[in-house]
Amino acid sequence: MPNKSPLEKIFGTLKKKVTGEETKKPTPKKTVKQATKKATKKSAPKKALVKKAAKKTPKKAVKKSASKNSTKKTAKKATKKAVKQAAKTPETGYVEKKKLSSLAIKDPREHEWVAERSKIKAAIHNGLPQSYLSVHRMLYIGAAHGYTVAHIHEKPIELYAVEKSREMMQYFLPLAEDLPTVLPIYGDAANPDSYAHLIPQQVDLIFQDIAQRDQVGIFLSNCSRFLSPAGVGILCLKAKNVNSTAEPAAIFADARQKLEREGATIVQEINLEPYHKHHRIFVVHLNPYHDW
Ligand code: SAM
Repeated sequence: MPNKSPLEKIFGTLKKKVTGEETKKPTPKKTVKQATKKATKKSAPKKALVKKAAKKTPKKAVKKSASKNSTKKTAKKATKKAVKQAAKTPETGYVEKKKLSSLAIKDPREHEWVAERSKIKAAIHNGLPQSYLSVHRMLYIGAAHGYTVAHIHEKPIELYAVEKSREMMQYFLPLAEDLPTVLPIYGDAANPDSYAHLIPQQVDLIFQDIAQRDQVGIFLSNCSRFLSPAGVGILCLKAKNVNSTAEPAAIFADARQKLEREGATIVQEINLEPYHKHHRIFVVHLNPYHDW
């Protein structure tokens, strides 16, 4: 096995925590098995009682089969509950992992990095200096299944990638496992405190691409929390997600105002057309004297 760099070692450990490999308990299979065992165990004394009683009168034998059924039912119920619970644990950051080969989509690394599929690539086509990506640490918000992350990763960046959708995370996890300096974070960017413990140092670059109404607010709260004073924030704004009926130009003007009011200086604004309709990129610096 090749020697791992210190960076890879740190990320390896963190990844285990995030993907739940360290705590094997919450894997759905085991949870289901345990729950089934537990349910069977709990009903065991009852079973024993019924068995004894059955010897005495035939009536009780009916009870026995009824109890067997109820044991099965209890176990079934517990199994269902366990599966439900496993699916409902975003707080623990646990998502069931699937093999890349079992998924409907191809490994993003097998595709060329094209502007039509990646906002960052489109921005580079339309004038964003590629040098913005030459950083040590980056927070990427809205990783989806990891198409852009996989291509950015060609550069040696410590990359913290946040994704809220469980389904997307199932695609992203097996890929991230293959990318030594990418840490997948299953979380909601609207609540940066919930994953702050996974980002030990401030980052040099924050990129956000999420389809949310309050894209600007979410971006600002992550910048104020994680961006280093000399860092750069890149917000990809999709006008139709902010307000599907308003004029995109008005949405972009609002976003500009809000960013500046909240202490950001816009250093570049890039229209992503023709690659992405109604999308703009705002490149910002934060005012270090702003009262965050
Ligand atoms: N940037 C990705 C790429 O180029 O490959 C595509 C991102 S896709 C347009 C937007 C993603 O943001 C979706 O996967 C969605 O689940 C995620 N998302 C939406 N709201 C979020 C939130 N509050 N926190 C984290 N991710 C979020």
